[in-house]
Amino acid sequence: MFKFKSDAPARTAELARRLAGVLRPGTVICLDGDLGAGKTLFVQNLAASLGVQGEVTSPTFNLMNLYEDGRLPLVHFDLYRLEQEYELDEIGFYDYAENPDGLVLIEWAEKFPECLPEDHIALEIQRTDVEDERVLVFRLAGSALQDVYKEMEKLCQF
Ligand code: ADP
Ligand code: MG
Repeated sequence: MFKFKSDAPARTAELARRLAGVLRPGTVICLDGDLGAGKTLFVQNLAASLGVQGEVTSPTFNLMNLYEDGRLPLVHFDLYRLEQEYELDEIGFYDYAENPDGLVLIEWAEKFPECLPEDHIALEIQRTDVEDERVLVFRLAGSALQDVYKEMEKLCQF
């Protein structure tokens, strides 16, 4: 586990842009944290850094967005509104959540811990008592993404 303390949205944005550089096909990042923690902001900046041109919006209603114009194809899920596990199948979660050719980012992943790809990097964004301060906690699940995870850890030291 490693942590990164962010004192402003711009700092979280900068980190996401840096981390995008070390992601490789097959990377799955599970994002958790309260509403307004910064999950979507993180995804937006990561996508921009990959070269995604269009606006990246939270897929709160459509549940999944696919961006294919960046350095790597990116699938972005938001499971906030999903209530039942069987709905994951209906929205194509299992077809896209393990994508060896691209990146998968899943907001509110911990609602369905049993359903996540075994190999993933978990990013929990925690608020603190200080407004605009966040602690980003990274954890590795499985071993396939160990190299990416270590690269990310190095990039968190700035
Ligand atoms: P989530 O997707 O987790 O619900 P969003 O990314 O949509 O959250 O919104 C995060 C909000 O928190 C934005 O309005 C952003 O400006 C604000 N914010 C304040 N401080 C930070 C910070 N240090 N890192 C990220 N976001 C922050
Ligand atoms: Mg969001």
